[in-house]
Amino acid sequence: MAKPLEKISKEYPNRGPLSQFRFEKSISFNCLRCGEAKTSKLITIYSNDWEKKLCNGCYGNLLSIYDIKGGQLRLDEKAEQLLGLLEKYVDSNKVREKVKKLNIANNKSSFLTPSSLRFYATSECVAETLTKDPNLDWSPAIIGLCKAFELELVELFINPLKEHCKAVKFSDQDLRDKDFGKIAAYCSGKPMKSPELGVVNHFIQTAVNSNDRFENSSFLQEGLKVFINKFPNHGWLINKNGLNAGIDNLTKNYRNKAAHTDELSKHEYESCKDLVFGENGIMWNLILSLKMY
Ligand SMILES: [Zn+2]
Repeated sequence: MAKPLEKISKEYPNRGPLSQFRFEKSISFNCLRCGEAKTSKLITIYSNDWEKKLCNGCYGNLLSIYDIKGGQLRLDEKAEQLLGLLEKYVDSNKVREKVKKLNIANNKSSFLTPSSLRFYATSECVAETLTKDPNLDWSPAIIGLCKAFELELVELFINPLKEHCKAVKFSDQDLRDKDFGKIAAYCSGKPMKSPELGVVNHFIQTAVNSNDRFENSSFLQEGLKVFINKFPNHGWLINKNGLNAGIDNLTKNYRNKAAHTDELSKHEYESCKDLVFGENGIMWNLILSLKMY
């Protein structure tokens, strides 16, 4: 899954299902176990899954569990000792609270930026009108949902990245790159329209998949990498099953069809709405990925 973009400077021997790594620079992440946002060069992962990161404290606690379980004590004594460890894990309640806060049932739209919320609301209004006539084309309403996501992506991700890049020196190579030159130019402060969904997607795909360019581009190294490493939940942004897959799905199955000749129905509007604003919608994943906690 999404392995951090930073370089690994040391890999420690596995201890059971735990593998610990030291990175060259500190990375922000959420610890799977205690739920705390941590910033550290040391990251442990559970069962080789980069989605399951552990902080150093929790690494220590888990090691004690394995030590107890693998030790020579009688079962009763082992159980007793494990019980002692349990008390250290009370922090997991904090995670549940945080999740609750983020979900604030049915109140998710309060997290949207005003322009994005306006497009969402406009689409819903159009949808209500369309419901009265089943033969109408639902494309405009679908385009509105796509626009809402694009605006949020620009306001939450691309514009703050541009702000961060004020301190970055752009090379000609960056600005002329065939895959991310447009984004580099935008982030370097050139007066131009904000990038569209497809352009952002192609940029991230290239950054994640092209080691060569990643190593040699100051825009990707000091710009993108340093920027996203500040966010503990940024994994979704660089995971190919995360933002990548989300934008692909949204553009290929909805926006492009709506913009071309296909007649789209209520059914497609509903499934597009589910993709963006549903229970596990890409909108909420995007917002969560770019929160500082
Ligand atoms: Zn932890």
